[in-house]
Amino acid sequence: MPVTPDDTRLMDVQQGGRCFYCDGPVGAKATFDHLIPQAYGGIDAPANVVLAHRRCNQRKGDRLPTAGELDRFFSLRRGSRLGVWPPLHALREAVLRGAGEDAAWIAVAEAIARLR
Ligand SMILES: [Zn+2]
Repeated sequence: MPVTPDDTRLMDVQQGGRCFYCDGPVGAKATFDHLIPQAYGGIDAPANVVLAHRRCNQRKGDRLPTAGELDRFFSLRRGSRLGVWPPLHALREAVLRGAGEDAAWIAVAEAIARLR
């Protein structure tokens, strides 16, 4: 289920027309950033996507979201039909347990494997 135009409009409203990363106004120039990068199995669906400037999207690159970014994403999606992809829950639990970078990647990979 790729991101539809309706999903994009809803994300834009929920983010207040602002970039997920820098909080600057983004509007029609927004790009889709995948919180868990597609290169590592992240899905192309609203539950794993935020709106961001192209430059912020590129700067984020292929890293995992930080604890603060996860908190922000979870609060944006609370009660929203756009949802949260289960591996993001697994990542948040790992981060809250104090997992380092390697352990966080393993938690994500295991959560993705459980969905298959
Ligand atoms: Zn930005």
